[in-house]
Amino acid sequence: MTEVIWNKIGVVLPTVLAAALQLFPSHEILREDFAPISQPIPHIMPVGGLITLPSLSGKAWFLNRTPFSRIEAFGKDYAVIGTTTPRHSAVYSVEAPSRPQWPLLQHPTQMISVHHLTIDKPGKDDGRDLRLPANVWKRVNEDHDDKKRLQSEKVRLAISEIQEDIVPSCFQKPVDNIVTSKYSSPRNLPNGRFYLHSGVDLRARTGTMIYAAADGVVQLAEHMIVPGRIVILNHGQGLMTRYLHLNEILVKEGQAVKAGQPVGRAGSTGRVQAAHLHWDVIWKKQYGDPLAFQRHWLKYCSLSRI
Ligand SMILES: [Zn+2]
Repeated sequence: MTEVIWNKIGVVLPTVLAAALQLFPSHEILREDFAPISQPIPHIMPVGGLITLPSLSGKAWFLNRTPFSRIEAFGKDYAVIGTTTPRHSAVYSVEAPSRPQWPLLQHPTQMISVHHLTIDKPGKDDGRDLRLPANVWKRVNEDHDDKKRLQSEKVRLAISEIQEDIVPSCFQKPVDNIVTSKYSSPRNLPNGRFYLHSGVDLRARTGTMIYAAADGVVQLAEHMIVPGRIVILNHGQGLMTRYLHLNEILVKEGQAVKAGQPVGRAGSTGRVQAAHLHWDVIWKKQYGDPLAFQRHWLKYCSLSRI
């Protein structure tokens, strides 16, 4: 009799175990090209662009297996993809855990959804190759190598600070003038170094008033060799804006500013040929396209005011 029961268990138990394992699978299943959100992720986007991602109750999103910048504001998650560093078009994989359909039964990492995204390299039509004149190069390179290194380290540290308690407000252009040099346009230095423009240049004569793009706190206000007189505003959640080459700084470090409040006057200090405002938008140490950012962000921040 006992033997019969054991025989029955021998048949039934593996079946039960197999069924249980199906309910709690330990392996990851890759599923291509999902559309988990009302706004699908595009397949191609320009470098420095922004995409909006859904809130998946705090779960991480990955770009090429690395968690990427996200921000929680206005009740949604946002993410910035793209920096000024890529020189070539590249296909990235965006990964996210799927929303479990039966949260109690399904292992949270059971499904990883993969979306392929091509980040477009900066187009040749995005601006002419700018060559810095030798006299400007000479002026900023006269010596001070150590000082320049310290200053760029100071800027790097300043933009790394994330203040979670500040909620970003809507963004506006710091001066309502035309763009004279686009984001990610190619730049060449006389020493052969090549880089892509980290922000936009806005036309501004010396003395033109420059206004804070959004509410924030002055993170840095200093006269430096390469950026000239520079103001960095901290807008919270890893968002920063930078204002370069100012003739005059009108704010102090640590001071709270409101969107539209004067932060300085435009000028031609630092590594520049003529007066203009260089404006950067930084999100968790990534330099995005300020105009794309402003347009994208405006949609959501204006909705949140209704
Ligand atoms: Zn510039």
